[in-house]
Amino acid sequence: MTALRWPHGARAACAFTFDLDAETLWLARGVTEPVALSQGAFGVLEALPRILGLLRQADLVASFFVPAWVAEHCPDAVAAIVAAGHEVGCHGDVHERVSDLDEAAEEKILVRSLDVLTRVAGSRPVGYRAPAWQLSGRTLELLARHGFEYSSNMMDRLQPYLHPVTEGRRLVEIPVSWVLDDAPFFLFTGQRTIQPPGPVLQGWLTELDGITEVAGVTTFTFHPQLIGRPSRFACLRELVDHARHTPKLWVARLDQIAAHARAELG
Ligand code: ZN
Repeated sequence: MTALRWPHGARAACAFTFDLDAETLWLARGVTEPVALSQGAFGVLEALPRILGLLRQADLVASFFVPAWVAEHCPDAVAAIVAAGHEVGCHGDVHERVSDLDEAAEEKILVRSLDVLTRVAGSRPVGYRAPAWQLSGRTLELLARHGFEYSSNMMDRLQPYLHPVTEGRRLVEIPVSWVLDDAPFFLFTGQRTIQPPGPVLQGWLTELDGITEVAGVTTFTFHPQLIGRPSRFACLRELVDHARHTPKLWVARLDQIAAHARAELG
């Protein structure tokens, strides 16, 4: 397999991505109880401004995946993300599981999320991340049909790659992993234990160094409502510092990485 070369003499890439699920993380589980929902609100009210502040101080740009429901309920949050130079990508409507939907429902939600985000963010999204990283057998074809540039859902590689041609267009895939996600460690649903942040940070740092060694892309996926708690925000700050001080590491938005990958591989 041909290895992807990175721009500007970089040896690897790293992306900080945030899924701004807010209340939809809970609504999608059928939860309507106010205290549970307030955990989602924390992501927008308390966490997002601090995350934007950290990224500004570090002079880094990031990608935010926003459900249409969240964009409609919190347009100021989306405006703040866009004003800071970050990317906004599609992430369902109310965080519904795509794998549970029939084709008509899946396409309707995709079109609605494109319309809402285009209106609220002021430009058309080019990236798609499925809620809970669950695709249907049709998702990639639908993304190609509706003009997306990339998907950030698969867990099979450490470097971006091109999907086979669908609907006359090849989608770029920017791979992810549950290991690089905060939810498996920090999302408390009543059954799962809460992990101490220190060992989780150590794992993330080791992943970043290891993926950098093999010229891959480290795609961190964080949820403001989880990573925004002070004990975990300290982990995020250390990760950002570590990434910035890693020589020849290109820290970029996923749309920038996708454009580069398409130019190199297409
Ligand atoms: Zn999500």
